[in-house]
Amino acid sequence: VQSRAVVQTADRQIRQQLFQVPELPPDHALLKVEACGMCGSDYEQYTGRMAESGLVEYPLITGHEIVGRIAAFGSGAAESWQVAEGDRVAVEAIVSCKQCRECQAGRTSFCRNRFIYGYTTISAPGALWGGYADYMLMKPGTKLHALPEHMTSEDAVLFNPLGAGFDWAVRAAGTRVGDTVLIFGPGQRGLACVLAAREAGAAAVIVAGRSTSRWRLELARELGATHVIESDVEDVPAAVRELTNGDLADRTVDASAHATQAIPQAIEATRPEGTIVLAGIKATDTIPGFNPDRIFAKSLTLRGVFGVSSWAKEQAIRVAASGRFPTDKLHTHTLSLEEVEHGVRMLGGEVPDAHAVHITVKPV
Ligand SMILES: [Zn+2]
Ligand SMILES: [Zn+2]
Repeated sequence: VQSRAVVQTADRQIRQQLFQVPELPPDHALLKVEACGMCGSDYEQYTGRMAESGLVEYPLITGHEIVGRIAAFGSGAAESWQVAEGDRVAVEAIVSCKQCRECQAGRTSFCRNRFIYGYTTISAPGALWGGYADYMLMKPGTKLHALPEHMTSEDAVLFNPLGAGFDWAVRAAGTRVGDTVLIFGPGQRGLACVLAAREAGAAAVIVAGRSTSRWRLELARELGATHVIESDVEDVPAAVRELTNGDLADRTVDASAHATQAIPQAIEATRPEGTIVLAGIKATDTIPGFNPDRIFAKSLTLRGVFGVSSWAKEQAIRVAASGRFPTDKLHTHTLSLEEVEHGVRMLGGEVPDAHAVHITVKPV
Protein backbone atom coordinates (compact mmCIF):
# COMPACT_ATOMS: atom_id res chain seq x y z
CA VAL A 1 0.00 0.00 0.00
CA GLN A 2 1.20 3.49 -0.81
CA SER A 3 0.32 6.80 0.75
CA ARG A 4 0.56 10.29 -0.64
CA ALA A 5 1.65 12.89 1.88
CA VAL A 6 2.26 16.63 2.02
CA VAL A 7 5.90 17.19 2.98
CA GLN A 8 7.37 20.49 4.14
CA THR A 9 11.04 20.54 3.14
CA ALA A 10 12.01 24.09 4.17
CA ASP A 11 10.42 27.42 5.12
CA ARG A 12 7.58 28.03 2.62
CA GLN A 13 8.45 24.85 0.70
CA ILE A 14 5.74 22.20 0.43
CA ARG A 15 5.53 19.29 -2.00
CA GLN A 16 3.63 16.07 -2.35
CA GLN A 17 5.52 12.81 -1.96
CA LEU A 18 4.62 9.14 -2.30
CA PHE A 19 5.51 6.78 0.55
CA GLN A 20 5.32 3.04 1.00
CA VAL A 21 3.17 2.27 4.05
CA PRO A 22 5.64 0.35 6.25
CA GLU A 23 4.96 -2.88 8.04
CA LEU A 24 3.36 -1.91 11.34
CA PRO A 25 5.57 -2.20 14.40
CA PRO A 26 3.95 -4.17 17.24
CA ASP A 27 1.66 -1.97 19.40
CA HIS A 28 1.14 0.53 16.57
CA ALA A 29 -1.98 1.15 14.50
CA LEU A 30 -2.60 2.45 11.00
CA LEU A 31 -5.14 5.20 10.34
CA LYS A 32 -6.82 5.75 6.98
CA VAL A 33 -7.11 9.53 7.03
CA GLU A 34 -10.58 10.83 6.24
CA ALA A 35 -9.90 14.52 6.80
CA CYS A 36 -7.48 16.86 8.53
CA GLY A 37 -8.44 20.29 9.79
CA MET A 38 -6.21 23.25 9.09
CA CYS A 39 -5.00 24.98 12.25
CA GLY A 40 -3.94 28.62 12.58
CA SER A 41 -0.58 27.26 13.71
CA ASP A 42 -0.16 25.58 10.30
CA TYR A 43 0.66 29.03 8.97
CA GLU A 44 3.36 29.60 11.61
CA GLN A 45 4.72 26.20 10.65
CA TYR A 46 4.64 27.08 6.93
CA THR A 47 6.49 30.37 7.28
CA GLY A 48 9.22 28.73 9.36
CA ARG A 49 8.53 30.30 12.74
CA MET A 50 8.32 26.87 14.35
CA ALA A 51 11.53 25.59 12.78
CA GLU A 52 13.22 28.78 13.90
CA SER A 53 12.20 28.16 17.50
CA GLY A 54 13.35 24.53 17.30
CA LEU A 55 9.85 23.00 17.50
CA VAL A 56 10.09 21.14 14.20
CA GLU A 57 12.79 19.73 11.96
CA TYR A 58 12.43 19.45 8.15
CA PRO A 59 11.42 17.48 6.20
CA LEU A 60 8.13 16.57 7.84
CA ILE A 61 4.53 15.68 7.00
CA THR A 62 2.29 18.47 8.31
CA GLY A 63 -1.33 18.33 9.54
CA HIS A 64 -2.26 17.63 13.17
CA GLU A 65 -6.09 17.89 13.51
CA ILE A 66 -6.79 14.42 12.24
CA VAL A 67 -9.91 12.33 11.70
CA GLY A 68 -9.96 8.88 10.16
CA ARG A 69 -10.72 5.18 10.44
CA ILE A 70 -8.64 2.44 12.01
CA ALA A 71 -7.20 0.52 9.05
CA ALA A 72 -4.98 -2.06 10.79
CA PHE A 73 -3.16 -2.96 13.99
CA GLY A 74 0.40 -4.14 14.52
CA SER A 75 0.78 -7.66 15.88
CA GLY A 76 -0.78 -8.06 19.31
CA ALA A 77 -1.90 -4.42 19.41
CA ALA A 78 -5.65 -4.76 18.84
CA GLU A 79 -6.59 -5.24 22.53
CA SER A 80 -4.52 -2.35 23.88
CA TRP A 81 -6.13 0.19 21.54
CA GLN A 82 -9.76 -0.24 22.74
CA VAL A 83 -11.06 0.46 19.24
CA ALA A 84 -11.76 -1.88 16.35
CA GLU A 85 -10.79 -1.89 12.69
CA GLY A 86 -13.13 0.45 10.80
CA ASP A 87 -13.89 2.65 13.83
CA ARG A 88 -14.13 6.36 13.08
CA VAL A 89 -11.98 8.43 15.42
CA ALA A 90 -10.55 11.87 16.12
CA VAL A 91 -6.84 11.69 16.97
CA GLU A 92 -5.23 13.85 19.66
CA ALA A 93 -2.04 15.36 18.25
CA ILE A 94 0.07 15.04 21.40
CA VAL A 95 1.17 11.62 22.62
CA SER A 96 2.53 11.98 26.15
CA CYS A 97 4.94 9.61 27.88
CA LYS A 98 2.90 9.21 31.12
CA GLN A 99 6.19 8.89 33.03
CA CYS A 100 7.71 12.36 33.35
CA ARG A 101 6.96 14.79 36.17
CA GLU A 102 4.47 16.81 34.07
CA CYS A 103 2.59 13.69 32.94
CA GLN A 104 2.44 12.33 36.49
CA ALA A 105 0.94 15.62 37.62
CA GLY A 106 -1.68 15.45 34.86
CA ARG A 107 -0.12 18.20 32.73
CA THR A 108 0.20 15.96 29.70
CA SER A 109 0.27 18.87 27.21
CA PHE A 110 3.62 19.75 28.77
CA CYS A 111 5.07 16.23 28.68
CA ARG A 112 8.85 16.51 28.52
CA ASN A 113 9.06 13.62 26.05
CA ARG A 114 5.99 14.46 24.03
CA PHE A 115 5.50 13.28 20.46
CA ILE A 116 3.32 15.38 18.15
CA TYR A 117 1.67 14.25 14.93
CA GLY A 118 2.35 16.77 12.15
CA TYR A 119 5.51 17.98 13.92
CA THR A 120 7.73 14.93 13.44
CA THR A 121 10.41 14.59 10.78
CA ILE A 122 10.10 11.86 8.13
CA SER A 123 13.57 10.70 9.20
CA ALA A 124 11.84 9.14 12.23
CA PRO A 125 11.27 5.42 11.47
CA GLY A 126 7.97 4.90 9.66
CA ALA A 127 7.91 8.46 8.26
CA LEU A 128 4.10 8.71 8.09
CA TRP A 129 3.55 10.85 11.20
CA GLY A 130 1.41 13.68 9.81
CA GLY A 131 -2.26 14.13 8.90
CA TYR A 132 -2.05 15.60 5.40
CA ALA A 133 -1.72 12.12 3.91
CA ASP A 134 -3.73 9.07 2.88
CA TYR A 135 -2.45 7.04 5.83
CA MET A 136 -0.89 7.84 9.19
CA LEU A 137 0.92 5.62 11.67
CA MET A 138 -0.22 5.80 15.29
CA LYS A 139 1.90 5.15 18.35
CA PRO A 140 0.70 3.28 21.43
CA GLY A 141 -0.66 5.76 23.96
CA THR A 142 -2.38 7.90 21.30
CA LYS A 143 -5.63 9.36 22.65
CA LEU A 144 -8.60 8.71 20.39
CA HIS A 145 -12.18 10.03 20.50
CA ALA A 146 -15.04 8.05 18.96
CA LEU A 147 -16.97 9.98 16.32
CA PRO A 148 -20.65 9.43 15.51
CA GLU A 149 -21.15 8.18 11.94
CA HIS A 150 -23.65 10.92 11.07
CA MET A 151 -21.17 13.80 11.44
CA THR A 152 -19.76 15.32 8.25
CA SER A 153 -15.97 15.27 7.86
CA GLU A 154 -16.03 19.06 8.12
CA ASP A 155 -17.86 18.93 11.48
CA ALA A 156 -15.69 16.06 12.74
CA VAL A 157 -12.40 17.96 12.27
CA LEU A 158 -13.82 20.78 14.41
CA PHE A 159 -12.99 18.65 17.47
CA ASN A 160 -9.82 20.69 17.95
CA PRO A 161 -10.77 24.33 17.13
CA LEU A 162 -14.17 23.99 18.82
CA GLY A 163 -12.40 22.26 21.69
CA ALA A 164 -10.17 25.32 22.02
CA GLY A 165 -13.35 27.38 22.45
CA PHE A 166 -14.44 25.19 25.36
CA ASP A 167 -11.00 25.21 26.95
CA TRP A 168 -10.43 28.95 26.63
CA ALA A 169 -13.89 30.51 27.00
CA VAL A 170 -15.29 27.99 29.51
CA ARG A 171 -12.68 25.97 31.43
CA ALA A 172 -9.87 28.56 31.66
CA ALA A 173 -12.19 31.58 31.82
CA GLY A 174 -14.45 29.96 34.44
CA THR A 175 -17.60 31.06 32.61
CA ARG A 176 -20.84 30.51 34.49
CA VAL A 177 -24.53 30.79 33.68
CA GLY A 178 -25.52 34.44 33.22
CA ASP A 179 -21.98 35.77 32.65
CA THR A 180 -20.99 38.42 30.14
CA VAL A 181 -18.10 37.14 28.01
CA LEU A 182 -15.98 39.43 25.84
CA ILE A 183 -14.01 37.89 22.96
CA PHE A 184 -11.32 39.64 20.95
CA GLY A 185 -10.67 38.26 17.45
CA PRO A 186 -13.41 36.55 15.40
CA GLY A 187 -11.06 34.00 13.75
CA GLN A 188 -11.81 30.28 13.88
CA ARG A 189 -10.81 30.05 17.58
CA GLY A 190 -12.59 33.25 18.61
CA LEU A 191 -15.76 32.09 16.87
CA ALA A 192 -15.41 28.73 18.64
CA CYS A 193 -15.25 30.70 21.91
CA VAL A 194 -18.58 32.35 21.04
CA LEU A 195 -20.28 29.00 20.58
CA ALA A 196 -18.70 27.49 23.71
CA ALA A 197 -19.60 30.50 25.89
CA ARG A 198 -23.23 30.28 24.75
CA GLU A 199 -23.28 26.53 25.40
CA ALA A 200 -21.97 27.22 28.93
CA GLY A 201 -24.84 29.60 29.61
CA ALA A 202 -23.30 33.04 29.08
CA ALA A 203 -26.10 35.58 28.94
CA ALA A 204 -24.16 38.03 26.77
CA VAL A 205 -21.30 37.37 24.35
CA ILE A 206 -19.59 40.47 22.97
CA VAL A 207 -17.14 40.08 20.07
CA ALA A 208 -14.58 42.71 19.09
CA GLY A 209 -13.05 42.59 15.59
CA ARG A 210 -11.92 44.83 12.77
CA SER A 211 -14.44 46.61 10.56
CA THR A 212 -12.41 45.43 7.55
CA SER A 213 -13.58 41.91 8.46
CA ARG A 214 -17.18 42.92 9.04
CA TRP A 215 -18.27 39.52 7.61
CA ARG A 216 -16.52 37.80 10.55
CA LEU A 217 -18.54 39.88 13.01
CA GLU A 218 -21.74 38.90 11.18
CA LEU A 219 -20.66 35.26 11.45
CA ALA A 220 -20.09 35.76 15.19
CA ARG A 221 -23.72 36.92 15.49
CA GLU A 222 -24.97 33.86 13.62
CA LEU A 223 -23.05 31.64 16.06
CA GLY A 224 -24.58 33.30 19.10
CA ALA A 225 -22.81 36.60 19.80
CA THR A 226 -25.26 39.08 21.32
CA HIS A 227 -23.20 42.19 20.46
CA VAL A 228 -20.31 43.04 18.14
CA ILE A 229 -17.83 45.92 18.34
CA GLU A 230 -15.69 47.27 15.49
CA SER A 231 -12.39 47.49 17.33
CA ASP A 232 -10.70 49.84 14.84
CA VAL A 233 -13.63 52.27 14.81
CA GLU A 234 -15.04 52.17 18.35
CA ASP A 235 -13.37 52.50 21.76
CA VAL A 236 -13.75 48.87 22.89
CA PRO A 237 -13.73 49.39 26.71
CA ALA A 238 -16.18 52.32 26.37
CA ALA A 239 -18.47 50.24 24.15
CA VAL A 240 -18.39 47.32 26.63
CA ARG A 241 -19.11 49.71 29.50
CA GLU A 242 -22.14 51.04 27.64
CA LEU A 243 -23.43 47.61 26.59
CA THR A 244 -23.21 46.30 30.17
CA ASN A 245 -24.52 49.42 31.92
CA GLY A 246 -21.11 49.86 33.55
CA ASP A 247 -20.77 46.27 34.80
CA LEU A 248 -18.05 45.34 32.25
CA ALA A 249 -17.24 41.75 31.16
CA ASP A 250 -17.02 38.94 33.72
CA ARG A 251 -14.67 36.93 31.45
CA THR A 252 -12.57 38.06 28.54
CA VAL A 253 -10.74 35.94 25.97
CA ASP A 254 -8.11 37.45 23.70
CA ALA A 255 -8.07 35.20 20.63
CA SER A 256 -6.74 37.90 18.30
CA ALA A 257 -3.46 37.23 16.47
CA HIS A 258 -0.82 39.97 16.43
CA ALA A 259 -3.24 42.64 17.78
CA THR A 260 -1.37 44.00 20.81
CA GLN A 261 -3.98 46.63 21.75
CA ALA A 262 -6.39 43.83 22.71
CA ILE A 263 -4.45 43.24 25.95
CA PRO A 264 -4.72 46.76 27.49
CA GLN A 265 -8.29 46.95 26.17
CA ALA A 266 -9.14 43.63 27.83
CA ILE A 267 -7.73 44.92 31.13
CA GLU A 268 -10.00 47.99 30.94
CA ALA A 269 -13.11 46.13 29.72
CA THR A 270 -13.08 43.37 32.37
CA ARG A 271 -14.77 43.85 35.76
CA PRO A 272 -12.88 43.83 39.08
CA GLU A 273 -11.87 40.24 40.00
CA GLY A 274 -12.68 39.17 36.45
CA THR A 275 -10.63 36.71 34.42
CA ILE A 276 -8.74 37.40 31.20
CA VAL A 277 -7.56 34.48 29.08
CA LEU A 278 -4.62 35.24 26.79
CA ALA A 279 -4.70 32.93 23.78
CA GLY A 280 -3.65 35.01 20.78
CA ILE A 281 -0.07 34.97 19.50
CA LYS A 282 1.51 38.45 19.58
CA ALA A 283 5.05 37.67 18.36
CA THR A 284 6.41 40.73 20.17
CA ASP A 285 7.72 41.65 23.62
CA THR A 286 6.26 45.15 23.51
CA ILE A 287 2.62 45.88 24.31
CA PRO A 288 1.94 49.62 23.90
CA GLY A 289 -0.45 50.94 26.55
CA PHE A 290 0.04 47.96 28.87
CA ASN A 291 -0.13 49.12 32.49
CA PRO A 292 0.50 46.25 34.94
CA ASP A 293 -0.74 48.37 37.87
CA ARG A 294 -4.28 48.01 36.52
CA ILE A 295 -4.04 44.24 37.11
CA PHE A 296 -3.60 44.48 40.87
CA ALA A 297 -5.78 47.57 41.17
CA LYS A 298 -8.68 45.56 39.68
CA SER A 299 -7.58 42.25 41.23
CA LEU A 300 -7.71 40.62 37.81
CA THR A 301 -6.70 37.09 36.92
CA LEU A 302 -4.68 36.89 33.69
CA ARG A 303 -3.89 33.44 32.45
CA GLY A 304 -2.47 31.76 29.37
CA VAL A 305 -3.69 28.62 27.66
CA PHE A 306 -1.81 26.03 25.66
CA GLY A 307 -3.24 23.03 23.85
CA VAL A 308 -6.75 21.65 24.13
CA SER A 309 -7.80 19.27 26.91
CA SER A 310 -9.47 15.93 26.24
CA TRP A 311 -12.53 17.20 28.11
CA ALA A 312 -12.83 20.14 25.73
CA LYS A 313 -12.51 17.88 22.67
CA GLU A 314 -15.34 15.71 24.01
CA GLN A 315 -17.53 18.80 24.43
CA ALA A 316 -16.70 19.90 20.88
CA ILE A 317 -17.67 16.53 19.41
CA ARG A 318 -20.86 16.40 21.49
CA VAL A 319 -21.98 19.89 20.48
CA ALA A 320 -21.01 19.59 16.80
CA ALA A 321 -22.80 16.22 16.61
CA SER A 322 -25.93 17.68 18.23
CA GLY A 323 -26.59 19.99 15.30
CA ARG A 324 -27.77 22.72 17.69
CA PHE A 325 -25.31 25.31 16.34
CA PRO A 326 -24.81 26.29 12.69
CA THR A 327 -21.27 24.84 12.65
CA ASP A 328 -21.48 24.55 8.85
CA LYS A 329 -21.03 28.34 8.78
CA LEU A 330 -17.48 27.85 10.07
CA HIS A 331 -16.55 25.69 7.08
CA THR A 332 -15.42 27.91 4.29
CA HIS A 333 -13.21 25.56 2.24
CA THR A 334 -12.70 21.85 1.63
CA LEU A 335 -9.41 21.22 -0.16
CA SER A 336 -7.39 18.32 -1.58
CA LEU A 337 -3.82 17.39 -0.59
CA GLU A 338 -2.57 19.29 -3.66
CA GLU A 339 -4.19 22.47 -2.33
CA VAL A 340 -2.69 22.45 1.18
CA GLU A 341 -0.17 25.22 0.46
CA HIS A 342 -2.89 27.44 -0.99
CA GLY A 343 -5.07 26.74 2.04
CA VAL A 344 -2.33 27.60 4.51
CA ARG A 345 -1.69 30.88 2.69
CA MET A 346 -5.44 31.68 2.75
CA LEU A 347 -5.54 31.05 6.49
CA GLY A 348 -2.51 33.27 6.96
CA GLY A 349 -4.24 36.12 5.15
CA GLU A 350 -1.88 36.04 2.14
CA VAL A 351 -4.64 35.49 -0.40
CA PRO A 352 -6.79 38.61 -0.87
CA ASP A 353 -10.55 38.18 -0.36
CA ALA A 354 -10.23 34.48 0.46
CA HIS A 355 -12.59 34.86 3.48
CA ALA A 356 -11.26 31.67 5.06
CA VAL A 357 -12.44 30.67 8.53
CA HIS A 358 -12.06 26.91 8.79
CA ILE A 359 -10.45 24.78 6.10
CA THR A 360 -10.76 21.00 5.85
CA VAL A 361 -8.30 18.93 3.83
CA LYS A 362 -9.57 15.63 2.43
CA PRO A 363 -7.19 13.18 0.78
CA VAL A 364 -9.62 11.96 -1.89
ZN1 LIG B 1 -3.74 22.96 15.88
ZN1 LIG C 1 5.56 12.89 29.90
